Amino acid sequence: MLTTPIAPFETYDVVVLGAGYAGLMASLRLGRRRLGLRVALINAEEQFVERVRLQEAMVAPVTPRIASLSNYLARTPVKFIKARARSLDLLQRRIIIEATGSTREIGFTQLIYALGSRVDTSTAPSASQYAYRLDPGEGLHATAALRAALHQLAGRPARVLAVGGGPLSIEAAGEVKSTWPEMDVTLLSATRAGDFTSDKVQAVLRRDLARLGVALVDNERVSEITASEVVTANGRHFAYDVCIWAAGMRAPSIAREAGLTVDAQGRVVVDTDLRSVSHPCILAVGDSAHPRGATGAPFRHSALTAAVSGVYAAEQVAAKIAEKTISPFTFSTFAQAIAVGRFAALFPLDANDHPILFVLGGRAARRLRDILVWLVLHFITFERLLPGIQSWPGRKRGASHPARAEIGNRPARKSSADVDDRG
Ligand SMILES: Cc1cc2nc3c(=O)[nH]c(=O)nc-3n(C[C@H](O)[C@H](O)[C@H](O)COP(=O)(O)OP(=O)(O)OC[C@H]3O[C@@H](n4cnc5c(N)ncnc54)[C@H](O)[C@@H]3O)c2cc1C
Repeated sequence: MLTTPIAPFETYDVVVLGAGYAGLMASLRLGRRRLGLRVALINAEEQFVERVRLQEAMVAPVTPRIASLSNYLARTPVKFIKARARSLDLLQRRIIIEATGSTREIGFTQLIYALGSRVDTSTAPSASQYAYRLDPGEGLHATAALRAALHQLAGRPARVLAVGGGPLSIEAAGEVKSTWPEMDVTLLSATRAGDFTSDKVQAVLRRDLARLGVALVDNERVSEITASEVVTANGRHFAYDVCIWAAGMRAPSIAREAGLTVDAQGRVVVDTDLRSVSHPCILAVGDSAHPRGATGAPFRHSALTAAVSGVYAAEQVAAKIAEKTISPFTFSTFAQAIAVGRFAALFPLDANDHPILFVLGGRAARRLRDILVWLVLHFITFERLLPGIQSWPGRKRGASHPARAEIGNRPARKSSADVDDRG
């Protein structure tokens, strides 16, 4: 009897999609030899991109601190696959990946979805056509292209428009004005720039932007972008030479296209165990996750949240295999820092992520912010050296319990965690 041959495909106990802070950390935790798991980590690039340094990359190329993920993972049991994930087949538990022009399938028992996020240009017509954004890669409007455009305009009073009132646009505007003081930099915000945080922090951010000479235009929502100007809903026109779009983030569309329950920004809706509410064999972490229900402090999208959620997801996976349950994900960080060119605002946070006590501004804060960024990377590196070592503030520890009955498709709870982003 003739049968259609089925192309052989690799299969793993756990596949981690995306090697950012979340995915890399999850893989290292899962790579503990005593777990004996077959783990694959799939990432589009060979290098580890420190997204928190992309605003520095607007000015000069940033030398990657992990230039080769293959080498970095060489002595671990994790198999690194440099490929772009194209789609996800939830029924067959397979991922279609593409590398060097050919596609293949990878099978999994559990999957950690860690594809991060990108700047969301869907909210204004033509933003994707004309505006640059702080995204990695070689895209026509990504950071490297933005750097080239800014260098071409250096020495001239070029008009640079940063759109958005959140940390991303503040960091972009501050970096440009610090580097090229001759440029005419404007921060255009739909609300009051900086109002995502406390009045005290906001005052420091706005003061430092003003000290650099960034013009702040509040309460102007962009309705249209053309090749040379931005038009707002109030009918004002802002001519520009370079427009940087930084008004919100969005997760890749793979999860939505596969049929996972996602939020309006394409982030996978997960329970407090970081498992998808619609498909519990999928866990989502970092910028790609939207937990509903309380997770300690609100699940703010940051590098540390990503790394910590990666560790937790790995432990969830290991617990499931051992037929145990672990406490829900809880995390609260202790401080936040936002760069404003050569300055920064750095402030401690309480367990609910509210700024407390004081706000450190100026150059000292910027130096401390860079140390924090370096420390997050070393949070990961320590895990590679001593797998299983990392923990985090606000973690709820609980004895492992025998597993509940097989997790099925769970009905939605009413409460939902706040999700911040950097837009
Ligand atoms: C300019 C800027 C400044 C920031 N500053 C700070 C800061 O100071 N402090 C802070 O805490 N946070 C900061 N953030 C936020 C922080 O960078 C993110 O929260 C963090 O990177 C999220 O980590 P992640 O692992 O979820 O996703 P990412 O870091 O985005 O990693 C996702 C990975 O998935 C890969 N990937 C995506 N799609 C595919 C695909 N289809 N196939 C294969 N691989 C794919 C990507 O290549 C990437 O390696 C900043 C962000 C930006 C953009």
